[in-house]
Amino acid sequence: MQTVYIPPKQKTPKDKTSIHTYGGGVWAISANHGKTLTKVVQFKFKRSRTEIPRTQKLFLSPQQSMSRLPVMSSKRVLACSSAENAQDLAPAQKRLRKDADLVKPAATVIGTKRPALAATRAPLSRPLRAAGAATVAAAPSRGVIKQSVASAAAKGGNMKQPVVSTGTKTGGTQKRNPWDLKGKVSDMEDKVRNYQMKVKTLNQENEVLQDSVSQSQRKMVQVEKELQIQRSQIGEYERKLQVLAGVQDELEKVLSDKNFLQKELTNLEGKYKVMETLRDSQETELQTLKMKLSVQESTLARVQANLRDSEEEVRSLKETVAQQKDEIYAGEMERRRLHNTIQELKGNIRVFCRVRPLVGGGLPKHIQLATSDNKAITLAKTEESHTGKTADTQKNYNFSFDRVFGPRTSQQEVFEEISLLVQSALDGYNVCCFAYGQTGSGKTYTMEGDEFDETRGVIPRAVQQIFKAAGKLGEQGWEFTFTASFVEIYNETLRDLLYTGKSSKRPEHEIRKTASNEVTITNLTYERVINEDQVLGLIALANQNRSTAQTAQNDRSSRSHSVFQLDIEGVNAGRDVKCKSTLCLVDGWQRDDRHQGDRFKEMTAINGSLSNLGIVIAALANKESYVPYRNSKLTYLLQGCLGGNSKTLMFVNIAPEPDSFGETLNSLRFASKVNDCVIGTATANKK
Ligand code: ADP
Ligand code: MG
Repeated sequence: MQTVYIPPKQKTPKDKTSIHTYGGGVWAISANHGKTLTKVVQFKFKRSRTEIPRTQKLFLSPQQSMSRLPVMSSKRVLACSSAENAQDLAPAQKRLRKDADLVKPAATVIGTKRPALAATRAPLSRPLRAAGAATVAAAPSRGVIKQSVASAAAKGGNMKQPVVSTGTKTGGTQKRNPWDLKGKVSDMEDKVRNYQMKVKTLNQENEVLQDSVSQSQRKMVQVEKELQIQRSQIGEYERKLQVLAGVQDELEKVLSDKNFLQKELTNLEGKYKVMETLRDSQETELQTLKMKLSVQESTLARVQANLRDSEEEVRSLKETVAQQKDEIYAGEMERRRLHNTIQELKGNIRVFCRVRPLVGGGLPKHIQLATSDNKAITLAKTEESHTGKTADTQKNYNFSFDRVFGPRTSQQEVFEEISLLVQSALDGYNVCCFAYGQTGSGKTYTMEGDEFDETRGVIPRAVQQIFKAAGKLGEQGWEFTFTASFVEIYNETLRDLLYTGKSSKRPEHEIRKTASNEVTITNLTYERVINEDQVLGLIALANQNRSTAQTAQNDRSSRSHSVFQLDIEGVNAGRDVKCKSTLCLVDGWQRDDRHQGDRFKEMTAINGSLSNLGIVIAALANKESYVPYRNSKLTYLLQGCLGGNSKTLMFVNIAPEPDSFGETLNSLRFASKVNDCVIGTATANKK
């Protein structure tokens, strides 16, 4: 038997060789350019040399394909994926070449009747297992199992398997002769041996495979364990990864925080720098201030010394002030006393005459005013001669009063004359000012005047002066309270002019005298007032009330008296002094002889008032023990303002029209009578 190796890189397209088992031998058939060249070689496979590189391919010539030889792909027959086998193959290649040379002569036996001995004895071997091994080897040889199978196949090859044996037949076309029974038996025996061998090989292979399977299973278990370990590791890693993700988030947050803090830091640094410069500047300022302070301290010491001196001075000045206040008070008291003396000298009852201008302005002929002084008035009456033989005679009626105001005298001039009396009211004297005269002579104009500043009358001007003077006296410690009332006397009936309720519910009024000899009216509105405007508002309300009454009773206002009273109370707490007085301003005292008939009673009442006033004044002038105030409501109401230390001022208003001559004469006569009564009147009135 000859052992041959097939060199792996021996094959070229021109020299293709295929190996076959046939008839118990192994045939290597090489085809070269279509010419069949058959070599019979018996192979002895060694364990390590059965594996032939898979790259080696064997091809059959066309003739072979035509023959009955089984065709094998080199893939199935010869394959080697192992690198280590490649090493073993190298010497094999060399040997193959050598063997090829050696077997050359064997070729000559082809076509002989009997195969060579070697060939006949060679166990019939088909490339089944080798093919199996090759099949395994041809498959992808990456797996462990496959490799071991391949090696197992190699082991199989180690069983001294006569893979190739030299046969006695060539080309596979020859058959045993029918008589060659022995040969046939031997063939059959070969076959049996072959099969037995195959079975053995298969068993071995099976064992090997089982080994490899159990090995693989073990490995698998191991691999699974490893896999599990790796899985748990992966889980571990994933957890760690998650933790790391959290850490990353935190890191990012920390980073953003850091950025923010860094910005803040730069901000703060900037601020710090600013503060530093500020501090520096403030330090210098502080130094300056310290210097200034030391200067100031020395100044302060000086000033303190001065202050002590000043305090001393202030103390002495305060003493002086107190002393001077006392002196001022004494002076004020002295002023009051003197003022009162002057008023008394002027007369406690004074009479002023005021002539209203003609409607067109100017004065009529029958009224003449003295040009030398403003105290005399003359009424001239021309009487015609009854016989006509003698010339007309003119009769003059001369009157003189404390003051006579002509038709051009302004309201301001008139008030100046009585403003001293208003001052007396604040000094604690009762003051009464009333207007007397026929209807239309200018009483209301004198007492109230018109709305405009220029034409305002005595009442608003007196109120203004009172509040002004009260303010000045306040500086000397005086505090005043004022109470106003406004009452109308008509037909000996009293009517509240400040009443604001329903006319149907108007209360009745009575004049009462209190224990302290004060005169009050029951149910009358006494309104506390604190300023001039309030008083003016009350006067407006009174006018409204009067006009309502006048609508109901024609010509009522001209035949009634309206009395405005302002009660004044002054307190000087510092001096513990009090004073109380009443300023009484009366409009509408008249005498009108023209009224006759059904108005007789009314006239009687008015004339009664007038005559009563005359009687009262005469009684006061004569210092009679009994003064008949009670004879009329008016005198009874005004009794406080008419006697004693009271100051009374009477305006006699005169209408200049010639047809009022008689009334004018009567008014002047009455006024003159009052004037004559007054003690201390400067000038005696003589007719
Ligand atoms: P009495 O109140 O006495 O009835 P009034 O005061 O109502 O009279 O006056 C009658 C009219 O004469 C009024 O229109 C008034 O404005 C006007 N009058 C009165 N006195 C003067 C005066 N001195 N200067 C200008 N007008 C006057
Ligand atoms: Mg009037």
